[in-house]
Amino acid sequence: MPNKTTFDAKQAHLWIIGGGIAGMAAAAFAIRDAKVPAHNIHILEELNIAGGSMDGGETPQAAHAWVTRGGRMLTDETYLCLWDLFSSIPSLENPDVSVREECRAFNAEIKTHARARLIDAEHHILDASKLGLSNLHRAQMLRLLASKEERIGSRRIDEFFDDSFFQSNFWRMWRTTFAFQKWHSAAELRRYFLRFIQELPRIHTLAGVKRTKYNQYDSMIYPLQRWLVEQGVDVRFGHYVTDADFSSDESTQERRATKLYVKLPEGKEEIDLKQHDLAIFTLGSITADSRYGGNHDVPELIRDRQDHGWRLWETLSKKAADFGRPMSFYGNVDEHKWESFTLTMQGDVLLKRIVDYTGNEPGTGALMTWFESGWHLSIVVPAQPHFANLPDNTFTFWGYGFEIDHIGDYIKKPMSQATGQEILTELIKQRGFDDILEHVLANTEVTTVMMPYASALFACRKSGDRPLVIPKGSQNFAFLGQFVEIEDDVVFTVEYSVRGAMQAIYEFFGVTRDIPEIYNGLLDPKVGLKALEAVFH
Ligand code: FAD
Repeated sequence: MPNKTTFDAKQAHLWIIGGGIAGMAAAAFAIRDAKVPAHNIHILEELNIAGGSMDGGETPQAAHAWVTRGGRMLTDETYLCLWDLFSSIPSLENPDVSVREECRAFNAEIKTHARARLIDAEHHILDASKLGLSNLHRAQMLRLLASKEERIGSRRIDEFFDDSFFQSNFWRMWRTTFAFQKWHSAAELRRYFLRFIQELPRIHTLAGVKRTKYNQYDSMIYPLQRWLVEQGVDVRFGHYVTDADFSSDESTQERRATKLYVKLPEGKEEIDLKQHDLAIFTLGSITADSRYGGNHDVPELIRDRQDHGWRLWETLSKKAADFGRPMSFYGNVDEHKWESFTLTMQGDVLLKRIVDYTGNEPGTGALMTWFESGWHLSIVVPAQPHFANLPDNTFTFWGYGFEIDHIGDYIKKPMSQATGQEILTELIKQRGFDDILEHVLANTEVTTVMMPYASALFACRKSGDRPLVIPKGSQNFAFLGQFVEIEDDVVFTVEYSVRGAMQAIYEFFGVTRDIPEIYNGLLDPKVGLKALEAVFH
C-alpha cells in the first residue's frame, strides 16, 4: 500500500515534535534536500534548549562546573547519514569549514589509539589485544550471527552465551564501549556485531573511533541550531506536545494526523493539521528524567516519568496497534539506569598523572574500564579543552558507572548513593593515585547525572514494540528517534536518529538523492578476514 502522495515542498508545513538531533536533522534535510521553505518548518521542543541528549555546557549545579551526560564515539563507516548532514553545516568557529571537515581535520591530528582499555584491581593495565575467546564462545557468536532476528525475538544476550564469555576481554571491552549488559537484547547485539564488525580487530585501541573537536553540543548541536535559525526555522522552546488526533479511512486504509495538542508556557494550543501539514514525532528519550548532583549531594533517581519524554508515546501508542509499546523500554528502570560524572578540574595534576600512567595524551585514549571495580567504572579523557568556553587552566573529563547499585571497593556504599566527592575518591583509589587525592578533591567540581533510561533502547524487544518510521497507510505523519524500527541499523547511535529523519523526509517529499546504504563490513573480504583473525587471537 503506498503511504501517501508526495508533498508539495512549497506548500508544506512541517511540525516537528522534539528538538533533539532527530528533529533537527529532519528540519535540515527538509530545507537542504526537499527545498521546504524554512519558515514553514516548526520545531516544538519542551525544553528551553536544543539537542536533547546531546548536551554540553556549564551546570547550574555549582560555580565553574561543566557537564555532558554522555560523550559520542563516532566512526567513518557507520555514521554515513550523520556525516552527510554535517557536511552542509558550518562549524562553530569557522563558517568556511563544515562540521564534517572540522571533524576530519581534528581526527587527522588527534588519533585515537588507546593503550589502557582494561585495568584490574591491582591497577595493572591488561594486554587487551588478546580477546580471550574460546572455541565455544566463537561458536556461540556464530550461532547468534546466523540466527534470524524473528527467531531471536525478545531473548537476552546471556541466553546465547556461556558464563565464561562474560569474563573474556572481548566482552569486557565490547560491553563498556557500546554499553551492553548481559540482560540486554540479543537481537540488538547481533546487529551491533554486524554493524561494527570492522571495529573488532581494533577494539583494544578503538583506533576506528572518530571524535568531535569539542563536546557534541558545541561541535554539532550549536552549529546546526544556528544554521536552522539562520535559514528561518520556527523553533518553539517550552512547547510540549501532549497528544495528537488521527483519522483513518477504512476503505483505503489511509491514516492522517489531524491535530496536535500543545502545552506552552502561556497555556494551551491546538494545531489543526490540514492538507499540506506533516507531523514528525520523536518518540521516547534515554535522557528523560535525568537528575544532577554535585560534590556534596546525590542525584535523585526518578522512576515515575516526571518529564514528558515518554508520555506522548504512551498516549499515542493507545491509538493504533502499530504505534509501538513504550512500556517494553521504559518499564524496567533498574535494568537500564546508569550514572555518569564530569570532573571540572582547576589545574592539570590529575590529567598529567593519567597521561603518565596510560601513555595516552588527552584525546588519544578511549574508554578505560576498571573491570573488577564494584561500580564498574570507566572514564574517557578527551582532547582539551572539551568545551569551547572553558577558562584557562581548567580541564574536564567524563566517566560512568555501570553497576551503580553495587558497593564500591573503597567507598563502601552503592554508587547511586555516593556524593560527587565520594565518586572521585573511589576513582582516584582505583588508580592508586592516593598521594594526590587531597589536592584533587580540593580542586575539582564533580557533576553527577542519574539517567533512569540510559540503556532503555537495548531492552529485550520483539516485533511490533517499535513502530516504523512511516507507519503503513500514513499520509502525513512519521516517527523518529531511538525507539522506531529501522531495518539493520543500530540504536544508541546518533546515526539512527539521523537516518530515520532522512528516510521520513525523503519519502514524504520524493527526494531522489540516495540515502547512504548501511555499511556492511562482511561484504568486504578484507574486513571479514581481519575480524576473523581478531576473534582467533
Ligand atoms: P533525544 O536526544 O532524546 O531528543 C528528544 C527531544 O524531544 C528532547 O529534547 C525532548 O525534550 C523532546 N521531546 C520529547 N517529547 C516531547 C514532546 N512531547 N513535546 C516536545 N518535545 C518533546 N550515540 C552515539 O552515536 N555514540 C555514542 O558514543 C553515544 N554515547 C552516548 C552516551 C550517553 C550517556 C547518552 C545519553 C547517549 C549516547 N549516544 C551515543 C546516543 C545519542 O546521543 C542519542 O541516541 C541521540 O542523541 C538521540 O537523539 P534523539 O533526537 O533521537 O532523541
